[in-house]
Amino acid sequence: MSAFDVDLFVIGGGSGGVRAARIAAGYGARVMLAEEYRVGGTCVIRGCVPKKLMVYAGRFADEFADAAGFGWTVGQPRFDWGTLKSRRDAEVTRLEGIYDANLIRAGVEIVPERAVIEDPHTVRLLKSGRTVRAERILVAVGAHPVKEPAVPGIDLAITSNEVFELESLPERILVIGGGYIAVEFAGIFAALGSRTTLLHRGERLLRGFDDEIRDALAEAYGQRMDLRLGRTLRRIARQDGGLCAELDDGSEIRVDQVLIATGRRPNVDGLGLDRVGIETDGVGAIPVDAYSQTKVPSIYAVGDVTNRANLTPVAIREGHAFADTVYGGRPSCVDHRLIPTAVFSTPEIGVVGHNEAAAREIYGKIDVYKARFRPMKATLSGREERILMKVLVDCASDRVVGVHIFGHDAGEVIQAVGIAVTMGATKADFDRTIAVHPTAAEELVTMRVPEVTKHPVGVG
Ligand code: NDP
Repeated sequence: MSAFDVDLFVIGGGSGGVRAARIAAGYGARVMLAEEYRVGGTCVIRGCVPKKLMVYAGRFADEFADAAGFGWTVGQPRFDWGTLKSRRDAEVTRLEGIYDANLIRAGVEIVPERAVIEDPHTVRLLKSGRTVRAERILVAVGAHPVKEPAVPGIDLAITSNEVFELESLPERILVIGGGYIAVEFAGIFAALGSRTTLLHRGERLLRGFDDEIRDALAEAYGQRMDLRLGRTLRRIARQDGGLCAELDDGSEIRVDQVLIATGRRPNVDGLGLDRVGIETDGVGAIPVDAYSQTKVPSIYAVGDVTNRANLTPVAIREGHAFADTVYGGRPSCVDHRLIPTAVFSTPEIGVVGHNEAAAREIYGKIDVYKARFRPMKATLSGREERILMKVLVDCASDRVVGVHIFGHDAGEVIQAVGIAVTMGATKADFDRTIAVHPTAAEELVTMRVPEVTKHPVGVG
């Protein structure tokens, strides 16, 4: 008879927690999982999934406009927010049901309430007051959006949580931030027809991305919305039934909604980490080793709460690796160095590997292959749009160390390119790959001449 009620108690039913629970249960562990809100977590309930559905909705606007160049007559398109919202919400509920069912089928017991840590082997359920003894505890509680900067009236703004609850499409919206969330939602609202302003404190959006991709995005967004770079928010106030945002240069923007997307923080408040001596880092994240183990041997953590790479597929991998290591007898850790990623702006961004500046710093001598061209569809549609592709090659090894795509379907393309780059593909491998014609992606394997190389003095 075990001294524990369960082998594993998972706190949090998001991407990382659900995967860990299912895989651990598959290995025969007795698993209990607590979720205080909805199983599926940020990604499924109020993140990637409903966001992408909204991205699809927005892109019809371009399709309707482009169709004319191909001979179609399209009547005046009308968008109905209520239809999109209810169909999107129904899809999210369907997916939530699948997550629930998969957990139950795997033998995981789901407890729909908040759980906190009492000691290294005990979890307390706050609603029922019940305590559960667990051999191991996995913290997979995710993160939440912050409302920063802390200027007067910031509480009048909504975050990426509330944006999914809006009952109507705002006629005018101000989006603040320059990361994934701000860029994606500004694109969505602009496409759906809101008069959209995107405000960012930096001179370029998407810090960490390749500078030329960032410039290409700014150029495209400048045509689609009111883009304000290098400006900050001073205050928000109610005015005439709407909101008025004042910027640092004294200018005022009148809108119906302000969406603040200036980052997320780990959900560690009140979790009981102090009771077991786990100290969080400067941003509130739980420090873990390569196997997601905290300094308390029976407590592990995966996903955004560890702030390694805050992406759903990474959390899933971390959860899976934890279960393989602890319950499958196969020690596994996640390689966080090479993570393909996409930003669902319109046009889209897909990236794997280093940006040009970082690649130069790491490898010294790199070749930059670049293609900037008008997509074939734009010839007849007349849309002013350019695709940008960059392939960065380490001269010493010929390995491709970065691929950057700005253009439609970049997310789809980069997933496949990511396999090659993860395998260590060289430029010669790209060159001997036969092009798929006519596609935009064929440019990736037909770039023959590098840009005039700007090797830093003293290198090579
Ligand atoms: P990010 O951390 O990506 O970006 C935050 C943005 O807000 C930055 O542009 C930052 O500017 C700015 N900012 C931060 N603090 C302030 C402040 N006090 N005043 C003004 N601006 C500020 O956060 P997001 O909320 O966009 O996204 C959170 C995470 O979610 C991301 O890390 C990403 O991993 C994940 N995500 C991934 C998606 C995808 O894969 N497609 C989609 C959505 C989210 P600066 O650059 O100057 O610091």
